[in-house]
Amino acid sequence: MKLNILGCYSATPRTFTNPTSQVLEINNHIFLIDCGEGTQVQLRKNKIKFSRIKHIFISHLHGDHFFGLVGLISTFRLLGRDTELHIYSPKGLKEVITLQMKLANSWTNYKLTFHELTNKDSEIVFEDEKVEVHTIPLDHRIYTNGFLFKEKPGDRKLDMNAVLNENIDVSYYRKLKQGADVTNEAGVLVKNETVTKAPNKPKSYAFCSDTAYKEDIIPLIKNVDVLYHESTFLEKHAKLAAPTKHSTAKQAASIAKQANVGQLILGHYSTRYDDLNVFKTEAQTIFDNVVLGDDGKVFEF
Ligand SMILES: [Zn+2]
Repeated sequence: MKLNILGCYSATPRTFTNPTSQVLEINNHIFLIDCGEGTQVQLRKNKIKFSRIKHIFISHLHGDHFFGLVGLISTFRLLGRDTELHIYSPKGLKEVITLQMKLANSWTNYKLTFHELTNKDSEIVFEDEKVEVHTIPLDHRIYTNGFLFKEKPGDRKLDMNAVLNENIDVSYYRKLKQGADVTNEAGVLVKNETVTKAPNKPKSYAFCSDTAYKEDIIPLIKNVDVLYHESTFLEKHAKLAAPTKHSTAKQAASIAKQANVGQLILGHYSTRYDDLNVFKTEAQTIFDNVVLGDDGKVFEF
């Protein structure tokens, strides 16, 4: 997986910072996660091919998470896009976007499908043979979901030396990869684990923005490789975090620790702070493997 953070600051676009948007590359998919104002400029700066984006996941309908969407949809049309685009978002987004297109009399020339979400429990919103995407219900001022991106376990790998030694016919290779025992050409049963190796451990990534401290999400994100968790405030401003339903760096770290994640990426910083290193220091009092998200940063895992 490759995560490209296009923007990870809260509230408004500024000269050198952008509101929330990320690109996740996973098994040949390019998923766009949130689409704050200016996302299409950030996509260009980060050299992401527009045509490869076929699925967009929107966490909630606060402007700093989706105000870039109508512009991107419109640009896709101007570029002559013909591939279908799927958007997963809270209910209401279709109405907003459709009204904007209607008043401009500029409908898309590609198929645009809205998958509007209302479920308060986690659900699978996208799935193919190799990947699944689950919602992570969050606690914010309006209906909000994070998203959990998971690779499915792959096939077992053939140990070719062992397979050839056992004289197994090629037509059984598929069954072997699926974990079955097979009979070799001499008619002897060959145990699967003697000729195959376990597949690579499936990777997972959880995106959690925006949310108050919410321990309910811990079982959903248990043991993920990477967790992006918002940390709008520092603990000294916890009084601001509570009513706005945001988290502090310390709270984000507490979630990361309890969920036993591999790495925590912080983001959605309030623009009141000049020195982001304090976020890292604060989080590391609870959980060690913390990195600061920043616009243009790329993570491979
Ligand atoms: Zn918000």
